[in-house]
Amino acid sequence: MEGLYQKKNIEDLSSKCLLCPHKCLIKNGEYGFCGGRKNINGTIHLLSLPITGYLDPIEKKPLYHFYPNSKIASFGSEGCNLKCKFCQNWTISQFKSSDKDKLEEITERTIQNIIKVGTNKQDGNIGCAYTYNEPSISFEYILKSSEAINKAGMKNVLVTNGYLNAGPQKRLLKYIDAINLDIKSFDDSFYKNYCSATLKPVLRYAERAKEYCHVEITTLVIPTLNDSKIEIQAIAKWIAKHLGNDTPFHLSAYFPNYKLDIDATNPEKLIELRKYAMEYLKYVYTGNIYDKEGKNTYCPSCSKPVIVRGYGYRPITEINLNGDKCKFCGEKINLKIN
Ligand code: SF4
Repeated sequence: MEGLYQKKNIEDLSSKCLLCPHKCLIKNGEYGFCGGRKNINGTIHLLSLPITGYLDPIEKKPLYHFYPNSKIASFGSEGCNLKCKFCQNWTISQFKSSDKDKLEEITERTIQNIIKVGTNKQDGNIGCAYTYNEPSISFEYILKSSEAINKAGMKNVLVTNGYLNAGPQKRLLKYIDAINLDIKSFDDSFYKNYCSATLKPVLRYAERAKEYCHVEITTLVIPTLNDSKIEIQAIAKWIAKHLGNDTPFHLSAYFPNYKLDIDATNPEKLIELRKYAMEYLKYVYTGNIYDKEGKNTYCPSCSKPVIVRGYGYRPITEINLNGDKCKFCGEKINLKIN
């Protein structure tokens, strides 16, 4: 499938990809930085197509305030436009897509399959999530499938690093119902040194997403790199100011992976950081650790639990809501619910 955002040079058959802030100038026969796009005879083509599809609990994205207890058909492929040294999914994100014979035919068949699965309501499915690796680099197929899924009245979800240019953002977001977006750090040098990216476009994407859909934010907390009180509170303050203090914020524990062998996040530290973030935000969660409180949703007014979650894939064991209001005191909770 031909890339929608590119500037071709017919003289030397190079082409500039304008999809994400990297703006790769790709020579004929070469790949872009993400490994999911290749210049074939002067035209950039999308090669990164889904290789996985599972019916996941929505809590696994993580999305805790978007149709709790529902399931969503989840697709991912390979490649990523960030090169995080601590990537927890590096076995799929850090690989180039292979060349494919009959590329156009395969792409079309793949998109039709996603639409078929994403619009199938069986087993409680509410739609389609683009996740596991970075969906932005598969922009064209996601645009097409999410438009069809949206027209069928089903939901589209993105789990993203937020590294996409403004034009494609606006074009895609009108079909998206919810996003979980990573703010990996509030320090631009962290983005440069550990992710080969920059912070500003990510923040801008989060703000724009808020104009279109439900937004939740995730930060993977890495000891010594981004786990100071100052840094976590800086992110929480920014979220409160730019996205609203009722935006769910997930603090997730890191485990040594890929190129980083710093020790795993201490659970007690994560629990402490949650408390610091809650000075600015109403709903803050811990992830990847055993934490009795950090997995539940509490009413910001009366402090009683409105959603109690189990462990693992966070199955819900108790819901104390009347619609989107706390059953105990009537406070409105920022929640999409049937
Ligand atoms: S989407 Fe890939 S090829 Fe395009 S600019 Fe970004 S990293 Fe480069």
